[in-house]
Amino acid sequence: MGRFHIFLLAIMALIMSGCASAPEKEQYPYTYIGGLKIVYAYLDDNQYNRRYKLPAPMNKIKTVTIHNTAGYISAMEERDRVNNLRNNVSLSFHYAVDENKAVQLVPLNIHTWHAGDGAKGEGNLYSISIEICRSLCTGEKEKLYRQAEENAVILAAHLLDAHNLPISALRKHQDWSGKNCPHKILDENRWEEFKSKVAKKMRKKDAF
Ligand SMILES: [Zn+2]
Repeated sequence: MGRFHIFLLAIMALIMSGCASAPEKEQYPYTYIGGLKIVYAYLDDNQYNRRYKLPAPMNKIKTVTIHNTAGYISAMEERDRVNNLRNNVSLSFHYAVDENKAVQLVPLNIHTWHAGDGAKGEGNLYSISIEICRSLCTGEKEKLYRQAEENAVILAAHLLDAHNLPISALRKHQDWSGKNCPHKILDENRWEEFKSKVAKKMRKKDAF
């Protein structure tokens, strides 16, 4: 091996070590709201997704609904999971939030199938849906869920403010269909606490 080759190898090693420590490059556009990264990773626009995940326009935004995923995976993994589902079940949501960021799956001018209250339900038709990820994580990883919930507080407060809605417009999945969701918040009897955290983050301080 000549000196030139050794030089090339050294350069490659330098570049590769640089890549390894470089921050992960985001493949989707993003912005920051109140310190929270919002990544726009809309579901693929194909025939299947149009039918089961992107049903119709959301003509009015009346409420914001909180869910727990009852899963372990990250927001982007939730997005990819929903994007790839082919089980003929109507299921979608606007945002998945984890410990690092919020991922938006569906633009806010389209309603989602999240509330379990039917094709004419106020939850499905007029509510922005937020899934808080990692709600089954326990032990050391439970802190990921706690951080995800803090990020959901920022996102929910921003959405209520942005759409000129009062804190009373913050709903839980249970309000629409009776389902035990967001299961983690309900199991720990913390819905009112969650709600007051959102109210404190809002610019407009409406009464409960
Ligand atoms: Zn739910």
